[in-house]
Amino acid sequence: MAETESGENAIQVCVRVRPLNNRERDEGHRTCVVLDEETKQVVLTAVDKNTLLQLRGSSAKGYAFDRRYDQNDISDMIYDDCIAQLVEKVFKGYNGTVMAYGQTGSGKTHTMSGGAGIHGKVEEGITPRVIRHVFSVVDSLNKRAKVGEKVEISAYALELYNEDLLDLSSKSGRAEELSKGWDASKGAAGGLKLTERPVGKDGRVVPEVIGVKEMKCETADDLKKFYDECMENRSTTSTKLNDRSSRSHAIFTVNVHRTMVDVLNEVGDDMKARVRTSEFTSKLHLVDLAGSERVKRSGVVGKELKEAANINGGLLVLGNVIVALSSEADGKKKGHVPYRDSKLTRLLQDSLGGNSLTVLISCISPSESDFEETNNTLKYANRAC
Ligand code: ADP
Ligand code: MG
Repeated sequence: MAETESGENAIQVCVRVRPLNNRERDEGHRTCVVLDEETKQVVLTAVDKNTLLQLRGSSAKGYAFDRRYDQNDISDMIYDDCIAQLVEKVFKGYNGTVMAYGQTGSGKTHTMSGGAGIHGKVEEGITPRVIRHVFSVVDSLNKRAKVGEKVEISAYALELYNEDLLDLSSKSGRAEELSKGWDASKGAAGGLKLTERPVGKDGRVVPEVIGVKEMKCETADDLKKFYDECMENRSTTSTKLNDRSSRSHAIFTVNVHRTMVDVLNEVGDDMKARVRTSEFTSKLHLVDLAGSERVKRSGVVGKELKEAANINGGLLVLGNVIVALSSEADGKKKGHVPYRDSKLTRLLQDSLGGNSLTVLISCISPSESDFEETNNTLKYANRAC
């Protein structure tokens, strides 16, 4: 298992199975996913002859994961198991990334943002919980802050669509872009530029998105309001553009800027204790990835083909990056980490691997009608373990 220098799991991979939905029930589809708690595996079972035929060669597969959540497990459990420690670490200077991966309809947005689920039970998603948690840490730090110490929170929201970065906070920018007509083959005229700023002497770089609106937030309510507005912009645009949200990545980033004061064990000429001030900025990316489904190539041309190539390409590179990082952290040979092969991984590069913490939540449908895509998702996620 991949670990950071101080020994935590650098990459945690979980699987979450959503409940069968009404359509699947009405059509008589059965569940083909079994969580085997004894072997800690997620097993895909062949439930009928057709599926069995598809399975031959690969046989009924069992995949082991760090954690498994079934349809009765709620987001709170995932939060307590995997996310809470990560948030605490961000206040200690670590970067973090939480990503939901899976085919469209598998529960990525439900997991990241929350909402009324299949059975109408409203659940708080991971991001709103992160927002509350961040400010509870801020409050406790403020209560015991020394003179000169402070902690500031800001956030920005991006949508990555066809290798174009868009600011999700800017309604006017997006409306303008929409009225001009979206031409994916040319890219967005208003797409933001991604650059890299070198830091330190060891060749490390920090990605920077030029021109993105970074919102300073004083309270959890401010940050939640900003998040809701950004997600609202995403879904409005998505509806106008033929459900684009399933084909774009949404990245909500919370920045923590801390200034800390250490009182040294010495006294200055003025007879006051000497102090040393230090500061850092760390970030937590909360990512609702584009749908991982394979696009059927037949009949897909031009713009849509380019779109499919970009999305799948980004997810493929992400998988390769995670695999390279896992084997590096496992002590195997230091290999090339292909961050530069996609904009998604360039953007996340300083928050994946190294001393950062990553949680990949693979969302799957239990329905036998989604067998193939579920198998693909489990294979993808299993490579990352
Ligand atoms: P995605 O973002 O992957 O396309 P969604 O999150 O929109 O998928 O989920 C599809 C539907 O299934 C939504 O109606 C959502 O509320 C519901 N759903 C997904 N996961 C769960 C879950 N774990 N529990 C209850 N309902 C869920
Ligand atoms: Mg979604």
